[in-house]
Amino acid sequence: MRILIIEDEVALADALQNILQKNKYLTDACHDGVSGLDCAMSGIYDLIILDIMLPKMNGFDVLRTLRINKIATPVLMLTARDEIADKVTGLDIGADDYMTKPFNTDELLARIRSLGRRSSNAVCENNLYFSDITLNLSTYELSCNGNSLKLGLKEFCIMELFFRSGSAVISKEQLIEKIWGYDSDAEYNNVEVYISFLRKKLMHLNSEVTIKTIRGVGYCLSSGKC
Ligand code: CA
Repeated sequence: MRILIIEDEVALADALQNILQKNKYLTDACHDGVSGLDCAMSGIYDLIILDIMLPKMNGFDVLRTLRINKIATPVLMLTARDEIADKVTGLDIGADDYMTKPFNTDELLARIRSLGRRSSNAVCENNLYFSDITLNLSTYELSCNGNSLKLGLKEFCIMELFFRSGSAVISKEQLIEKIWGYDSDAEYNNVEVYISFLRKKLMHLNSEVTIKTIRGVGYCLSSGKC
């Protein structure tokens, strides 16, 4: 999952990035409303953590603009005080959840997991399923028929993207934007290397699942039977 943090307190944004990266989330941070909106409009994020009081454009206006432009990425709003009015306004204009600062890390992670579950049908508790393979979102293990392998961070994030997309084709451009980031200079070659790592792991697990190359389009998971 790739998470965008829009928070002008740089120390808090850095702390959030550290916590999330330790928990195998990919993150980007913006420190004002305008650059936050610009990143969010790319549509590559699975979740946005959005502060309300921001320079250049406040969080409510960022959220409103996203929803007007049909960007449905789940938004977790951060409110500075326990202001009921802020929470109501946020929820009314399309926030999915909110947290009051200062917040508890475990609660934040639980809320992020919950929003992640809401955005995908294939999730049951902490697992994602496709054909005979399971991806555990807590242990980052890929399993098949009782055997499992731990995945590295990028491998895990790529696999999670495949699971959440079902059999839909994902292009190399999408993989680069989602996994390496909006402004990254990663190339197709980087994607191909990781796809080959994952193919080897699927073979090692004796899974019937393969990562199919759709020439000129991208990749998708295939269950072998279809
Ligand atoms: Ca702020």
